[in-house]
Amino acid sequence: MAESRRVEIKASAQVRAVMEQHFRELDEAAKTGNRKIAWCSSVGPAELAISMGFLVYFYENHGAMLGSTRTATDYIPVTNAVGYSPDICSYLTSDIGAYLRGETPLMRAYGIERVPKPDVLLYNTNQCREVYDWMSWYSRELKVPLYGVNTPRTQRQSREDVVESVAAQIEEMVPGLEEVAGRRFDIDEFREVVATSRECSQLWEECLDTAEAMPSPMTFFDDCIHMGPAVVMRGRKEANDYYKILLAELKERVEQGVAAVEGERHRLYWEGMPIWGKLRMMSELFARLNSCILVSTYCNSWVFSALDPKDPFKSMARAYSSIFIGQDDNWKEDYIAEKVERFNVDGILYHDSKTCPNNTNSRYGMPDRLSERLGVPYLIIYGDLNDLRCFSEEQTITNVEAFIEQLEE
Ligand code: SF4
Repeated sequence: MAESRRVEIKASAQVRAVMEQHFRELDEAAKTGNRKIAWCSSVGPAELAISMGFLVYFYENHGAMLGSTRTATDYIPVTNAVGYSPDICSYLTSDIGAYLRGETPLMRAYGIERVPKPDVLLYNTNQCREVYDWMSWYSRELKVPLYGVNTPRTQRQSREDVVESVAAQIEEMVPGLEEVAGRRFDIDEFREVVATSRECSQLWEECLDTAEAMPSPMTFFDDCIHMGPAVVMRGRKEANDYYKILLAELKERVEQGVAAVEGERHRLYWEGMPIWGKLRMMSELFARLNSCILVSTYCNSWVFSALDPKDPFKSMARAYSSIFIGQDDNWKEDYIAEKVERFNVDGILYHDSKTCPNNTNSRYGMPDRLSERLGVPYLIIYGDLNDLRCFSEEQTITNVEAFIEQLEE
């Protein structure tokens, strides 16, 4: 097998600029009070908050930064010491620990000393209850109002009664948000933000779908970086402008046959959370083995096809209640099967993420069921999104090498 290397994406400089703009705006708002700030879970009611003039800060994104800078393990014990278990979400424990220590990776990245203080805290339990527990802590600590959507999970399909209930819950937030924002809600502004968010989702999906090409122009590790604007800037024009640039580059790569992993021999699916502190190591490992992880559940989770500006509350409820993490195993298996077939995948990697059972799908027989159904082998990688004490690099390398050898055979 010839040694392979990764080919960097040129738009990486632009994505860094978009992310920097996001944090600088928030920092300025926190310092000057020129805009109100809402903290929001990743698939929480961001569009509503944006339409009411809030700048939105996504706390899970900060959690991921703590992971990717490998500082999370310094902070997790700080939160354990105030009574939060080491077994719960390591985004939560590392983020609260960093707050308690008065530190943030934003300092090193942008010279920003602290995370922007919120005027309101928002969450949606469509992904897990942890986002509620996390924001409850801040609500008590900072004496800031907390509004949330409580979404039923483990659904076979998106049910109309759930959509109705979630839409009503989003609408019920309006008076509280009006009070914090000091301005009235305007349905037309809301429609406009939903339309912009929908366009972002479409563009991001088109970018992800370029990986159907053989060889793939992009890896899962690239996706983890380039999904940033879809996470923190959806509903804002800047995100869409960025994805037009990225999409053009990816299409050009496909036309010219440029491979993200030179000499691509194996095409893999990543199921579960990224291991943020090991993205580079993993990316180099798979590139060395001529293997491209090119499609994932995680990065596709910011595709919200149901958004519709004609019916903003209900369509947002539908989009946010039908995310992968909230569905039952039958639904999830159909979803993965469709992607495995469409992207010509020959192996599935499941990340068993110690502190996120919500986004771990290898514990109740799914790998065996899907392997039998699709005739595609799998490997379970044991680790964690942020807590690197749960991850053995040596063991993982040995297991991955053995798995790729199995695919070679
Ligand atoms: S989905 Fe997992 S990683 Fe994300 S906030 Fe919930 S428990 Fe944490």
